[in-house]
Amino acid sequence: MSDLKFNTRCIQSGYAPGNGEPRQIPIIQSTTFKYDTSEDMGKLFDLEESGYFYSRLQNPTCDMVAAKIADLEGGSAAMLTSSGQAANFFALFNICECGSHIVASSSIYGGTFNLISVTMAKMGIEVTFVAPDCSEEELENAFQENTRAVFGETIANPALTVLDIEKFAKAAHSHGVPLIVDNTFPTPVNCRPIEWGADIVTHSTTKYMDGHGSCVGGAIVDAGRFDWMAHKEMFPGLTTPDESYHGIVYAEKFGKEGAFITKATSQLMRDFGCVQSPQSAFILNLGLESLHVRMPRHVENGQAVAEFLEKQDRVLSVNYPGLKSNPYYQTAQKYLGNGGCGVVSFELKGGRAAAEKFMKELKVAAIETHVADARTCCLNPATSTHRQMTEEQLKAAGVPAGLIRISCGLEDKEDLIADLTQALSVLD
Ligand SMILES: *Cc1c(COP(=O)(O)O)cnc(C)c1O
Repeated sequence: MSDLKFNTRCIQSGYAPGNGEPRQIPIIQSTTFKYDTSEDMGKLFDLEESGYFYSRLQNPTCDMVAAKIADLEGGSAAMLTSSGQAANFFALFNICECGSHIVASSSIYGGTFNLISVTMAKMGIEVTFVAPDCSEEELENAFQENTRAVFGETIANPALTVLDIEKFAKAAHSHGVPLIVDNTFPTPVNCRPIEWGADIVTHSTTKYMDGHGSCVGGAIVDAGRFDWMAHKEMFPGLTTPDESYHGIVYAEKFGKEGAFITKATSQLMRDFGCVQSPQSAFILNLGLESLHVRMPRHVENGQAVAEFLEKQDRVLSVNYPGLKSNPYYQTAQKYLGNGGCGVVSFELKGGRAAAEKFMKELKVAAIETHVADARTCCLNPATSTHRQMTEEQLKAAGVPAGLIRISCGLEDKEDLIADLTQALSVLD
């Protein structure tokens, strides 16, 4: 498909029906698959042949949608997972084990921060966090002999910092490890991290890819470029025999293009089972078919709302990388030439009380713990996701009590601005 232009591939990649076959991706709602002989099935279990035997490992509907995402990101292979959390866990755990170390941007999604700093710590995997705008020297100093991966988010949720992908990729590669980038917020429409040097790309497809707030899901894409065999001792899971598959060596048998996703599917999905349902994959694909049409509108609305808020007396500050005043503006111009996403955060004068009063007045924007879907929604972390924190803790976490995150949907921007205007007016 890659000879076609990007928008065409959003629609058509991943599935090419034959004569008389369904035009839309079929939902293969079957847990299992039938074979004529045990020998036929045995070859699948030995990874001698590719095919389907049980939907916990692979399902054709999920694979078609994963193939589209791989194509859009410019990768060699991809898989769907049950959630974005599962995608990030699998991407890291596929190459890390007890005794490994991760270098991660400190500006990442709260769920991923917990996953790495609390849950993976219990598995004996250490982490060093670095600021996304750290110097090359600070980044260099974060590496250890047992570092096995570098992790960051293209646009961080919710801090909206922008990752200098080339800088992080260069540092990772000079230490013989891959860069994993969570590309949930820009989607491949606005940034393709593989083109800037990332090796593995992850997604919470729950956000813009689905785009309608319908299905929780995730995806992992492999660029297919990282040479595992060149760093044989560092990645034994990929470069030494897997006894649970009759001693096959993933990096030898499936090469740079296939080893990472094959191992994540045949080992991690087999053992953890964080599988996406074919129904969800079908709905996700409907979202992907309009992703290239929707993203520019999210950006247009985000930019308009950010510029509007910046001019308001009752607003202390606005954080949106598309604003010239933003410290990440230059980085955003480089990596996100068409804009980033529709999520904007801003701080109201008057703290928690003002935020609560303001949000109660909103009519178009709804109060939700969500971002990145067709309907505009907003959240005040101090009274919801960060509710347990004191004023001091909130300040230290960079989440002041009056902070509001607004995810601009696909409505008319005039209606969004009118809604914000009337809600701001009650603060007088
Ligand atoms: C939401 C989100 C996740 C987690 O995804 P789920 O689908 O909710 O499990 C991970 N990374 C980023 C950047 C997110 O926004």
